[in-house]
Amino acid sequence: MSHVDTEVRPSNFIRNIIDEDLQSGKHTSVHTRFPPEPNGYLHIGHAKSICLNFGIAKDYQGQCNLRFDDTNPEKEDMDYVNSIQEDVRWLGFQWSGEVRYSSNYFDQLHQYAVELINKGLAYVCFLNSEQTREYRGTLKAPGKNSPYRDTPVAENLALFEKMRKGEFKEGECALRAKIDMASPFMCMRDPVIYRIRFAHHHQTGDKWCIYPMYDFTHCISDALENISHSLCTLEFQDNRRLYDWVLDHLDDFQAPNRTRQYEFSRLNLEYTLMSKRKLNDLVVRKLVSGWDDPRMPTIAGLRRRGYTPASIREFCDRIGVTKQDNMIEVGMLDACIREELNAHAPRAMAVLRPVKVVIENYPEGELEYIKAAVHPNDESMGVRELAFGREIFIDAEDFKEEANKHYKRLVQGKEVRLRNAYVIKAERCDKDSEGNVTAIYCSYDPDTLGKNPADGRKVKGVIHWVEATSAKPAEFRLYDRLFIDANPAAAETVDEVLNPNSLVVVRGVVEAGLVNAPAEKAYQFEREGYFCADNKDSSAEHLVFNLTVALRDSFA
Ligand code: ATP
Ligand code: MG
Repeated sequence: MSHVDTEVRPSNFIRNIIDEDLQSGKHTSVHTRFPPEPNGYLHIGHAKSICLNFGIAKDYQGQCNLRFDDTNPEKEDMDYVNSIQEDVRWLGFQWSGEVRYSSNYFDQLHQYAVELINKGLAYVCFLNSEQTREYRGTLKAPGKNSPYRDTPVAENLALFEKMRKGEFKEGECALRAKIDMASPFMCMRDPVIYRIRFAHHHQTGDKWCIYPMYDFTHCISDALENISHSLCTLEFQDNRRLYDWVLDHLDDFQAPNRTRQYEFSRLNLEYTLMSKRKLNDLVVRKLVSGWDDPRMPTIAGLRRRGYTPASIREFCDRIGVTKQDNMIEVGMLDACIREELNAHAPRAMAVLRPVKVVIENYPEGELEYIKAAVHPNDESMGVRELAFGREIFIDAEDFKEEANKHYKRLVQGKEVRLRNAYVIKAERCDKDSEGNVTAIYCSYDPDTLGKNPADGRKVKGVIHWVEATSAKPAEFRLYDRLFIDANPAAAETVDEVLNPNSLVVVRGVVEAGLVNAPAEKAYQFEREGYFCADNKDSSAEHLVFNLTVALRDSFA
């Protein structure tokens, strides 16, 4: 398996369409766009869209724009605008030219609305929201024409101008396209294309109190940017009629190779919420520490957790692009990062639940330095030095006073091998009043140093350890999935499906070299899992490691 930018990506129906369009000469180049609404952080579902749009641009030597679809000023925020750019770049992509905003086109959009009015194809409607709903009809019954549908053009122009000047209240009226109240596609029943909002906009300030609707804005923005293939998710399938209708009726967009919309299925992932609204809810209610909480399915959360851009791109390649709705197993995402880290993550030792071991025949006050491979199968990653001395820590779960032969760790009276070091034998232990082991007294065999010494011993177990005087204290954040239900989106409330044990914090020690572990870089803590230093809370004085992923898939 290759992790980084496979030269030839798996084909899909969209790439086939592009191949045909290039072959037939309909298009001579490919221009896509990624159009997030800046009302939340990007999540793994967006990564699918990003990898598709930017991946196509890259592979076809085309271009991909980053365009903020910013027509809902109340819900949008500059923090989101910034995080989205950061996440796209982190995933390894660069947009063509400047960042674009739909709001860049507000003047033009306004002009195009006026053009539709002039053509008798749009009108100002004063039905209130309840009446509008009633007039719209249902999937089974056609709608009724609004009484404002036949207002003369000149009057509509004047009313729309009054809307723009702020002379009507929010909700008092709206500009609607005049299409077909009997259309089987609800989106064609005279959809609203402009509404009144007295809201400050993060890009245009207080210039506008009327804002264009998404369906009107998106197709025109695509056309203005000369997008060749406008890729979106399946819920916009019906809206393609409206997308085409708007462009069909505007003089500027009559070129035969004009932008076309193609739909693909959204990514749904087990045990994961993918709606920004619901993710925002988790943040606002402080059920997680923020958008970048390592349990969140956001790009920022995955990054903080220790996922790499290559592992996320690999995941997007593996899930593919189709028109079928489906639910992807979380194990697939885990496998992508696990395979990468297994091959490339440096190894290190960390003891999560430390108990002290005193090696009584090791000279007091002495330390030696043992060389250990950074990676067992990759010599190019070099060696590191591990301190070894009379006192070490091992994990409390790696010692028992008595155990059967299936327990291949340290047992009183028996031997175990210390990873990269010696064979030790447990002689006796101390316990507190509750019976917890507080110290283990051992002897070691000086002739057994090394990985596979020909010492002829039948020592089955190997355990990890950290030398006590050089050990660095560390906090370990052990993450589990955020939800206990495979389909949390179907639950009535998130509260009933929240995993109460999605974060468990333990305090232990790590080998000294990890004091310099860069944030977000995952290590394999031998026998424990893959961990990375937290990019917000970890410092040399207070090390904090996040569990990226377990060594094995315990759910397979
Ligand atoms: P959400 O429902 O999470 O709020 P959205 O579709 O409203 O998502 P946008 O910011 O509008 O979010 O999405 C930007 C682009 O990302 C769109 O083209 C959208 O189709 C795509 N996208 C969003 N969610 C997914 C997903 N789960 N799988 C694939 N593409 C997605
Ligand atoms: Mg959207």
